[in-house]
Amino acid sequence: MNKVYEALHWASSFLGENNRDQNIGELLLMHYLGISRAQLLSSLQDVMPTNVINEFKHKIEEHVTNGVPVQHIIGSAPFYGRTFKVNKDVLIPRPETEELVENVLSMIQVDFGVNESLAIADIGTGSGVIAITMQLELPETHVYAIDISDPALKVAVKNACNLGANRIEFIQGSLLEPLIQKEIKVDVLLSNPPYIPLTDLNNLQDVVRNHDPHLALFGGQSGLEFYEKIVRDLPKVLNRKAIVGFEIGDGQGEAVSELLKQMYPDETITVLKDINEKERMVFVRINEKNNTEIVGL
Ligand code: GLN
Repeated sequence: MNKVYEALHWASSFLGENNRDQNIGELLLMHYLGISRAQLLSSLQDVMPTNVINEFKHKIEEHVTNGVPVQHIIGSAPFYGRTFKVNKDVLIPRPETEELVENVLSMIQVDFGVNESLAIADIGTGSGVIAITMQLELPETHVYAIDISDPALKVAVKNACNLGANRIEFIQGSLLEPLIQKEIKVDVLLSNPPYIPLTDLNNLQDVVRNHDPHLALFGGQSGLEFYEKIVRDLPKVLNRKAIVGFEIGDGQGEAVSELLKQMYPDETITVLKDINEKERMVFVRINEKNNTEIVGL
């Protein structure tokens, strides 16, 4: 086995036999050869250097045996068309989270217009994907990216530097606490908090259970702990007119919208499904008019 197509063929059968994602072979080869998918497909007959073949085989075997995620082997993951550095200290960004960003971008356009300079907070920023994408998509905005984990913040800062997102303030702290302490108010608050119930630990795939940081995965026994804590403090950090967007786990839509409804009974709360028809996002759009009325009461 020394040609590209032979290596791909071997990887795809070996991965398939072991119930792993068969596309991983392609992704790894692209990485090791430093080429795009199109280039890979046009070099199927090329002979590969022995050290590349050995490294490739070794990593495929490691993935099959220990579930080491391909993103950890490569050291990066794509998000919203950009490449982010990832490691064991941060949650690997998921495509579902791109949908949160996409939806909030359209809501911002409707509620605030595109050119306004907004203050946005990303709570539990991890690798920084949400904060950095928002800053780059809306260059006028100022973003606060908060995480309790110092090692995670290091990754996020590196990503912001690499991608040229230079209007982000990275703050170490728990949930909304740093904003409250510094008396910062925001127009948009986003979070993809840890939301897996602890009781689901043993049902997770090894790729997730053994490689994503547990700090980034579990939201207490119910999975809802972080939504409860964030919602409780929302009024302290939101401007009068604001948008809040949470990523949620499938089946959490009702519980999370109920939490928001108790805090904001007169506002529009929306649960949206992702591309796989799973409940994935909850938004509340807090309207200037309603808030003025409350103030006036
Ligand atoms: N905000 C990051 C992401 O969406 C990290 C989320 C987390 O660690 N729970 O990928």
